Amino acid sequence: MPHASLDAALGPALTARRAQSLYRQRRTLASPQGPEVVVDGRHLVGFCSNDYLGLANHPDVIKAFRAGADDLGVGSGASHLVCGHSREHHALEEELAAFCGRERALLFSTGYMANLGTVTALVGKGDGIFEDRLNHASLLDAGLLSGARFQRFSHNDPEHLERRLAGSDARRRLVAVDGVFSMDGDCAPLVDLARVANAHDGWLMVDDAHGFGCLGERGAGTLDAQGVAEAQVPIYMATLGKALGTAGAFVAGSEALIETLIQFARSYIYTTALPPAVAAATRASLRLVQEEAWRRTELNERIAQFRDGARALGLTLMDSRTAVQPVLIGDDRRALALASALEQKGYWVVAIRPPTVPKGSARLRVTLSASHSRAQVAGLLSALADSLHEFASVEAP
Ligand code: PMP
Repeated sequence: MPHASLDAALGPALTARRAQSLYRQRRTLASPQGPEVVVDGRHLVGFCSNDYLGLANHPDVIKAFRAGADDLGVGSGASHLVCGHSREHHALEEELAAFCGRERALLFSTGYMANLGTVTALVGKGDGIFEDRLNHASLLDAGLLSGARFQRFSHNDPEHLERRLAGSDARRRLVAVDGVFSMDGDCAPLVDLARVANAHDGWLMVDDAHGFGCLGERGAGTLDAQGVAEAQVPIYMATLGKALGTAGAFVAGSEALIETLIQFARSYIYTTALPPAVAAATRASLRLVQEEAWRRTELNERIAQFRDGARALGLTLMDSRTAVQPVLIGDDRRALALASALEQKGYWVVAIRPPTVPKGSARLRVTLSASHSRAQVAGLLSALADSLHEFASVEAP
């Protein structure tokens, strides 16, 4: 039912968004995630999912999900602290802690909630939160919500962080960064950030949503890949809806950290636990991450193929060796036009525009997966070449 005064109040902002070509729209899928998807009735080769290892539709993961639902039902029924904490959640937490080499791990229902709960449980009024300016929205929102003094530092700039920390008289200092930046695909320089944070009595927190499962020989993530000791990064967070192909997130660290989150993280305490079958499915995907290292090899081969091909086309890539491979376009409308030309050729790539990325840096965010074939990546490159040719006359201002 329309509501006259509500709708009249909301209308102008929606109209303005449309006028700025910033209006966001959802697409409807009628297939599982995978290299080929059915979107709004069309078959497309998808290059925009975060299913980096091809586990979201893996038979072992589906089987574990079914068995979990047969055993424990669908809904968890309550929050973890009331009566929703099942043996599947518990076993997954123990397996995640062991895999990450930490004392404990704690499951959250989403990554957004893990960041919100962790930051607000650790810092508040009188404290300082220091964040890379390109951090994911959930870390930025968490910093604002915490009530701590919120200071951003320049992207991947440990010296700027050092100046911020040196000038701070905050009681507690939490430094939070993405391990892999979600819109640029580059990695945080963790060795240097940890050195700076530790020298100024800061606690380093890494959100490894896009590194966990993909980076490092074992797939244990960005710390593993950069040879950073656990002690250097006392707060490790990663999500389960990307490389692991399921849903949810976890924080791993010391006994004291995890007990603190259980007591004080409001987005942990006041929300329904994930369905236990999701935890059961995630246990299966965590086993695949460990047993099938070839998935990372395949992924890295597709990344290299895409980068080599895109460079040969003269495209502007970013400093990324990860599955997130943005093609910098600049102008919003040009990025949108290229995405729609690619779609006409059968390829689904999303254009990312402000405010998600800084003004003037609209891009095609290409994400690669171990499940893509060489032929599919080659097909995307040739569709990109054709689309660029068609749009050669549409110049960025
Ligand atoms: N952190 C980063 C870096 C992310 O990219 C995302 C998801 N896009 C999140 C946190 C949020 O995770 P979730 O989708 O599980 O809420």
